Amino acid sequence: MRVSAYFMPLLKENPSEAQIVSHRLMLRAGMIRQVTAGIYSWLPLGLKVLKKVEQIVREEQDHSGALEILMPTIQPADLWRASGRYDDYGKEMLRITDRHERDMLFGPTAEEVVTDIFRNAVKSYKDLPKNLYNIQWKFRDEVRPRFGVMRGREFLMKDAYSFDIDAAAAKRAYNKMFLAYLRTFARMGLKAIPMRADTGPIGGDLSHEFIILADTGESAVYCDKAWLETDVLAAEIDPAGDLEPFFQKWTSLYAATDEMHDPAKCPVPAADLVTARGIEVGHIFYFGTKYSAPMGAVVAGPNGESVPVEMGSYGIGVSRLVGAIIEASHDDKGIVWPEAVAPFRVGLVNLRGGDAKCIAASDALYATLRNAGVETLYDDRDESAGAKFAAMDLVGLPWQLVVGPRGVAAGTVELKNRKTGDREEISAEAALARLTAKH
Ligand code: ATP
Ligand code: MG
Repeated sequence: MRVSAYFMPLLKENPSEAQIVSHRLMLRAGMIRQVTAGIYSWLPLGLKVLKKVEQIVREEQDHSGALEILMPTIQPADLWRASGRYDDYGKEMLRITDRHERDMLFGPTAEEVVTDIFRNAVKSYKDLPKNLYNIQWKFRDEVRPRFGVMRGREFLMKDAYSFDIDAAAAKRAYNKMFLAYLRTFARMGLKAIPMRADTGPIGGDLSHEFIILADTGESAVYCDKAWLETDVLAAEIDPAGDLEPFFQKWTSLYAATDEMHDPAKCPVPAADLVTARGIEVGHIFYFGTKYSAPMGAVVAGPNGESVPVEMGSYGIGVSRLVGAIIEASHDDKGIVWPEAVAPFRVGLVNLRGGDAKCIAASDALYATLRNAGVETLYDDRDESAGAKFAAMDLVGLPWQLVVGPRGVAAGTVELKNRKTGDREEISAEAALARLTAKH
């Protein structure tokens, strides 16, 4: 993509409404714009990242055996009356009346809708287990929307729902999601720590929040420092196998949110305890028959008896993750994208937008990168070198390829790694070989 043809409205100054770094950088890099409190438009650069995050989430859900569906954003109030949650949910629910005076709502979550789909379609234990998920916009009328996409009112969530015949099978479903979550966040370059959590208004028995550590996190968290050295992607684990040992291993390391942490009972010696702030990026629940019983989601069991299904629900804040990744990976110049979610892999900078030789050399590099399928943002503008460097650092692509008059004469380019800051003066061929290599 040529910058001259792109839509990436950069801001030079820090916007005064942004209190945290990810919000500032997303605005400054032209990723998002606020439409009204807690509601954002995603501009091309931001949307590219959102889609990459969404795709990693999708691949890991699919890999775990969950099936993608798409449920609507607007739901009828009657389904929530049937589960008993309509009155309880309170002011966070955006309630709407249609032209026939029917009560509707913009879904804050989808337990009711998915339970309705299930109860109408599945009649026998032989059709279990099932896990249905969707990636869809949710609306919660948060009292204090803030921090940009981290606490919006409208936000993109992946929500999965498992249906099983008994508690043992439901625990297997829970374990599969537990594994999928650890893998999902690790693939995005994040260390997300599962912490035992209160089940809150969703209700139920077992719950973990997946929390990444960041100074700007909204909650205080505590964990064993051994967490900082773990690598969940080190071993490939078959999600179809027995995951209980995996679950036991990963939950044996101490980690707790503020509500669950009791200093008097903490098993980790003070020297090994990390006290930090955390951002919740995912949350999983096993809640048994809380919705299936009142809504009549029953199947015939092995002896013909009617059994309400055992359910769990599993959320990931897809749009929040875009902000959370920036919170975890930036420096004073801008964003430092992990490769897996970077909007482009390479930023190609022509230092002399008005120079025919530099233009020819840059155009040639751009064509080669494009043909090799390497996503490249090509700054072909006739701007000062300083402005171009600042823009590239702000946007934070993993690699910068810099073409200048001296290099063109000598047949070299400068290759800069955004994360380490390392620069190398190498031949154009060597740079291309590096950037087009499989990674
Ligand atoms: P929080 O405690 O942050 O308000 P929650 O516990 O109410 O979140 P869940 O119902 O567990 O949220 O939703 C699943 C995921 O959706 C959360 O883990 C979070 O990543 C994301 N999420 C929830 N509320 C918001 C929001 N207002 N803006 C962006 N993402 C959100
Ligand atoms: Mg939660």
